[in-house]
Amino acid sequence: MTITPSDNIKNDIDEKISDELISDVIRNRIKLQKKRFHANDNISDFINPGELDHLQKEVASKVRDLLKSLVIDIENDHNSQETAERVAKMYLREVFKGRYQKRPNVTDFPNAKNLDEIYTLGPISVRSACSHHMVPIIGDCWIGIKPGDKVIGISKFARVADWVFSRPHIQEEAVMILADEIERLCEPKGLAILVKAKHYCMCWRGVKEPNTSMINSIVRGDFRHDPSLKQEFFELVKNQPSGLSCY
Ligand SMILES: [Zn+2]
Repeated sequence: MTITPSDNIKNDIDEKISDELISDVIRNRIKLQKKRFHANDNISDFINPGELDHLQKEVASKVRDLLKSLVIDIENDHNSQETAERVAKMYLREVFKGRYQKRPNVTDFPNAKNLDEIYTLGPISVRSACSHHMVPIIGDCWIGIKPGDKVIGISKFARVADWVFSRPHIQEEAVMILADEIERLCEPKGLAILVKAKHYCMCWRGVKEPNTSMINSIVRGDFRHDPSLKQEFFELVKNQPSGLSCY
């Protein structure tokens, strides 16, 4: 096999990284900047291009250890042979991608017509996992906006909600983080968010209560100060059907 210069560079990088776990490298960068890296924080600013591939390999090897500790025969059980790789990919690239990827690009536009009527969006399906057990939280989100000087395309709300929820969370904090992001993006005069979600740590394990869902909401700006506006939002949401979540 011919080794090309780019292979050499790649091997060098592989070697350097193999001395130290890539998760340690990333963690040390975060600590140096005195930033948080809780389960629902986004840490993409501390991950260099190409490092996610290394992290995925590291996670796969740890999941392999977990399966071994669960006394699952990962060598001979045909169903479990590639499980570690699949789980690592699922965590880093899919269900927890909101920790490792940058926020989707969102362009804002001036509110040229000075729209000041509220509008609501939803249901936007949201998927997360509880930080306590790492099992799914699946639900619907409704967003109410009283526009300020900036507006953003309505599909962007769904993209940002997906990015925020694709992390391990507790529902109350997920809603707050989403509200912070939306405020940062379009500085609305008022913002209301309601999430209704099913928590699999309640129906799959623990009390095994399959029909319970959790509803929580947050209101900011004019929705907070003006009770009639708040009322209008909740009335609008009440009359809308649920989406994907299993009620
Ligand atoms: Zn839980």
